[in-house]
This record gives sequence, C-alpha cells and structure tokens, in this order.
Amino acid sequence: MAWYPGAEKMELQPESDAQPAIVPTQVIFHSIAAPWTPRRMYEYWRDSTNLESHFGVGYDGAVGQFIGTQTRADANYRANRRADGTGAVSVESASNDQHTDPWTDAQVAALVALGAWLHRQHGIPVRVCRSTDDPGFGYHRLFPDWSDGGTACPGDARVRQFQNLVLPGIAAFVSGGGTGTPLPPPRSDDAPARYRVTVNGLEYGYGAHGPQVREVGEALVASGHGSHYTAGPDEDWRDADTLNYQDYQHSLGYTGSAADGVPGEESLRRLLGRLPSPRRVSLAHVVAAARTDPGAEQGHQTYGGEVRIVEQALADEGYLEQRWVDGSLGTRTVQAYAAFQRSLGYAGTDANGIPGQRSLRELGRRRGFDVTD
Ligand SMILES: [Zn+2]
Repeated sequence: MAWYPGAEKMELQPESDAQPAIVPTQVIFHSIAAPWTPRRMYEYWRDSTNLESHFGVGYDGAVGQFIGTQTRADANYRANRRADGTGAVSVESASNDQHTDPWTDAQVAALVALGAWLHRQHGIPVRVCRSTDDPGFGYHRLFPDWSDGGTACPGDARVRQFQNLVLPGIAAFVSGGGTGTPLPPPRSDDAPARYRVTVNGLEYGYGAHGPQVREVGEALVASGHGSHYTAGPDEDWRDADTLNYQDYQHSLGYTGSAADGVPGEESLRRLLGRLPSPRRVSLAHVVAAARTDPGAEQGHQTYGGEVRIVEQALADEGYLEQRWVDGSLGTRTVQAYAAFQRSLGYAGTDANGIPGQRSLRELGRRRGFDVTD
C-alpha cells in the first residue's frame, strides 16, 4: 500500500479496500477531458463512475492520490491487473474537453517527480513500454489492450511531451542521483487563474475553445491589452488570454478576485459592446430565405433554424403572431420585419421587409442572437 508523499491523499472507498492487489510494473498517463482539480476528480470517481485512476494532476501541478499503488485501479482495461498479478499505475491529468491542449509546465514537472518516485518505489524501468505488458511508462492510447474499444487519450500534444519532456525528465532526475524523495515543485499563488465560466451560453477562461475566444482576444488587442500574446489570439484560451484579460479588468478598476483574468458578464459586455451568443444567424441566409420562401409553396423553409430565431425575436418584439413562428420566412414574416424596420425609422425600400445588417443586428442585440455575414 504505497502512498506518494507529494500527493494529497483522498482515499476512494470501497475501491481502496475491495480491489485486489497488484505488483505495479507500468505507469500509464491519461487526460481526463475536463479542467479538473484532483479534488474534483476524486468526487467524480466517488459519485459518478468506477473507472478511477491512482493519481490525478491538476493544471497547477497539484497531485491527488486516490488508491494505493499496490491496489488495482480501473482506468487501463487489460493493464489494470494481469493474470500474473502485475498491473499498471494510472495517472489522470486535467485537460480541455477535447484533450487537445498540452500539459502545463507545472503538470510536466509534477509528472516527472511522480514518475521518478514510482521508479524508486517500485523499480518501474524508465523507458517506453515495448508491448502491452512490458514494464515501463506509456500513455493510454499507446496500446489497444489498455482501453476498451479504443481511445484518443491523451491528445497529440501530450504524446509529444511524454516523449520529449516527461520521460527524459524522469531519466534525468533518476540518473542525476537525487537522493531525496522526488516531490512536485511548489505551486505559485500568483499563477494565472485556470478555470472556465459560461456567460450567455458560451465558455471563457483557460481551456475554452471557439470563435468567441478569438473575438475576445482580438478585442483585447484592439483595446491595447494584448501585450502577453506571443502568438494568436486564436480560438483556444490560454494563459496569455487570461493575463491580457486581467490587464483589461485592471483598466476598468477591478481588483482582487474580480480581476483574475476570467471574464464576467459586465466586463465582457463593456469590451465587446454586447454579449456574444451561441445562437447565430447569418444575414446572407436570412436574406436568401426572405427572397425564396414567400414565392414558394406554403411553409417552404430556407435555413429554417436561423429564420425561426429571427421570427421568435419578431414575435417577442410584438411584430409577429406566435403561430407564424414556423421557420418559413413567408409573406407575414416579411410584413412583420418591415414593421420592425419602420419602428427603427427606416422608410421606403429601407423598410421593405428584407433584413439588412443594421436592423438584424439591432434585433439580435435586443433578443440575444449573434449576426454573421
Ligand atoms: Zn485515458
């Protein structure tokens, strides 16, 4: 029953007492496809699934241990425990939802220290496993026998780090003749915040992914808060985005935890002039529908999903009866849109019921959808 002195012990029961003993001969690294702390991983395995790992490593390098290393854990399929009693030690790590992001520097350092301890404690050789049951180190998708039905865990970035950083790091630690217990490096309290929030249905903060992330990055650069970018901004939220957003929050007078670099509704609205929405309507699609549907057979739909968003907004503004919210941009919807245009002060052909950029954006601003070209 070995417990790593560099980890916070969070013993999982009944697994820890109930599962059979193993002689650990392998270490398998995983990504959990969630930006979780070790505590959150513990709760997940305690409450939601039994496919636990021995260890969990958070983005900040914090390590939790859930089961002793000489007890079977269930994350590695046939490598959990073999007929001869040998088995794999399983190490989970926080990642983005698609496990495409690299380990942070703190995670790499923590994995190196943990790997060196496992080598010392159990004699696991510092090399890549050459077969499914060969002693050594590996990552989950290295051998099909280690997963039930195949896995993409971990992503390519972490496989490269395993080969170029983690395993060489363990080898250097071991051959460097360090005699003390390998421990993860101390964590810094002023490291960038690494959590995500959902604002108006879209995610922001470390690990978030999507066009809304790029939009924030570009707005930060445009407002003079882009100094931490060495690349990007792009659709992946990294530490540089957090640090730039923090500079922007400071410029608004925010302090303390309100200026931790993770967006809130108010700062986001002030940066962008609106709150981006996962509901998106293409102007070109809606115009195409307005030119096609009225002349087609009753109920004809062109881009029905987007038209429905516009129709619901017109209904909510009081220009269209709810029963005509049907995804077909027919004559009644055109008339309703014309009335909305007149309410904005448009006249003549500017109020012909064919959506234009400014009127559609105004409707979206009022009713919570985004307009693209
Ligand atoms: Zn895995």
